[in-house]
Amino acid sequence: YQNSSRYIWVDGKIISLEQANFHVMNHSLHYGNAVFEGERSYYGNVFAMEDHHKRLLRSAEILGYHIPYTIEELNKAAKDIIYVNDLTDYDDVYLRLIAWKGGISLGISAPSLPIHLSFIAMRWPTYRHQKRNPLRLGWTKWVRPPPNSFPHEAKAAGQYIISSLCREDVFKEGYDDAVMMDYRGYVAECPGANIFMIKNKVLYTPIADCFLNGITRQTVLKIASENIGLECKETVITKEDIESADEIFVTGSAVEVFPVQEISGKMFSCGKISKDIIYSYLKLVGANIIE
Ligand code: PMP
Repeated sequence: YQNSSRYIWVDGKIISLEQANFHVMNHSLHYGNAVFEGERSYYGNVFAMEDHHKRLLRSAEILGYHIPYTIEELNKAAKDIIYVNDLTDYDDVYLRLIAWKGGISLGISAPSLPIHLSFIAMRWPTYRHQKRNPLRLGWTKWVRPPPNSFPHEAKAAGQYIISSLCREDVFKEGYDDAVMMDYRGYVAECPGANIFMIKNKVLYTPIADCFLNGITRQTVLKIASENIGLECKETVITKEDIESADEIFVTGSAVEVFPVQEISGKMFSCGKISKDIIYSYLKLVGANIIE
């Protein structure tokens, strides 16, 4: 599938994947100082494209640098890279945008390096295309750090070392993905997705005060309250709260909205409320829904 990306957009030019090389003494490679976005395209339309592009620019500003493109230029780049790779006929297309500091510099602080930007588009099937059953999650020992250790609103490459460790921690137990606590011991999120629970017909999700307030999370809160008429609460959630939930699901641009059947041995069902939310989300984004 990754071969479906033959061309890549770099700094305003479309080049072949093989031509996109960069120096091993690159600052961002050494220190994780890059910001990125993951978006999905459904038959050529990127869901919440502007929101993703605004977040990309804001992530960089939070980290103290400026990406020299307008939202309109980013929107055009996204459309162009989907088009040149012939990806307008699919609902499993993923876009990865990344902005990084260029030049050759091993200084830890590098405020004046040039900023580069690239767009990749490829077919990358999601759980919906691949999994017959809800996810099996496992608790990981790694925790989301406090907001004064890292600006959590920035979707920055460096902090994904924590996400990688979480995944590797639970993959060896055979789980599909991890659930993390935060630095206080409250439920936080998954390594690349937010988490929700339903109990007594009320939808709960942790307050996004030390992790990414996902675009899918915000979309699901809106769908649940406006379309489905559910009571929604952003609140502190403990491990015991989540273990007493009726239904659990995860949200993210890459994973969409997908149900969970287990967290470390504790079982959950995918009930009607989760199914309604999943259906509404897939309809909204324009996915091919297999009824
Ligand atoms: N948390 C983390 C750590 C993520 O990487 C993602 C994916 N971007 C999310 C949550 C969900 O964010 P979104 O819905 O904006 O994709």
